[in-house]
Amino acid sequence: MSAPHWLYENFDPSGSAIGYRVSAKLDEVQSPFQKIEIYESTDWGNVMLIDGAMMVTARDNFLYHEMMTHPALFTHADPKQVVIIGGGDCGTLREVLRHPGVAKAVQCDIDEQVTRMAEKYFPELCESNGDPRAEILFDDGIAYMANCAPGSLDVVIVDSTDPIGPAEGLFNKSFFESCFRALKDDGILVQQSESPLVLLELIQAMRAEMGKAGFDSFQTLPFPQPCYPSGWWSCTLARKGGRGFGFREDDARAKAFATKYYSVDIHKAAQVLPPFVAEALG
Ligand code: SAM
Repeated sequence: MSAPHWLYENFDPSGSAIGYRVSAKLDEVQSPFQKIEIYESTDWGNVMLIDGAMMVTARDNFLYHEMMTHPALFTHADPKQVVIIGGGDCGTLREVLRHPGVAKAVQCDIDEQVTRMAEKYFPELCESNGDPRAEILFDDGIAYMANCAPGSLDVVIVDSTDPIGPAEGLFNKSFFESCFRALKDDGILVQQSESPLVLLELIQAMRAEMGKAGFDSFQTLPFPQPCYPSGWWSCTLARKGGRGFGFREDDARAKAFATKYYSVDIHKAAQVLPPFVAEALG
């Protein structure tokens, strides 16, 4: 066990960095798609990096996985068919399967090694992988969505890496057209939409591409996520047919599963954007 030292991710687009004190490097694998590294930290549990970017820590991933899932699923009237694009650490899948009404949750990540590493070093995120409603695939999400049956899905969750490398094609009109076609009329697309503080223009661009694909109502929900650049992250929901974002408050309040961050009040609070974000997103 080496002496604790500091591990940093320098995030060039924002000229900022995030660091964790680590006590050991536990594993590393170079997959056909990306380099995956696992460290043991002194205070944040295990940490996963993909191509040098902080991806998951045991201590704070609940913020992200809960907010990527529960607002969208409680906004939908009765989500049964859910697809997760990316999400290889399986944390989002676990949250989706907490909803008893979900009949099937398909997770399609391009890189099997992410899931294999998560099974070894983040077993708590993989605890629902054996649920009979879960189907775990390893394929390019772009191709998967393009081949989805039209009007077959209630919710699509895009839990991807940043729009570079294999994830670049998950942020454009063509991909969003596939999502639009695969979703039922009352369906919801929700995608991790980066930092409202340092990547606001990316959120604007994502929403514009979603609009070109046919989606016509959008909701960006900010939330804290310490291990990502700026520590302030977001997800963006998109709907078709002018449908709004009122959610099943009574169901959310009466939910039979525990959450550490998500609540009805947090959901409502996230819908109130700071003025500079509201102005930029219109
Ligand atoms: N929470 C992280 C974030 O916001 O950056 C995302 C976590 S998850 C590990 C990101 C996943 O996206 C990775 O496992 C990666 O393999 C997957 N991914 C990237 N491009 C993909 C694609 N084209 N199709 C499917 N999965 C993809």
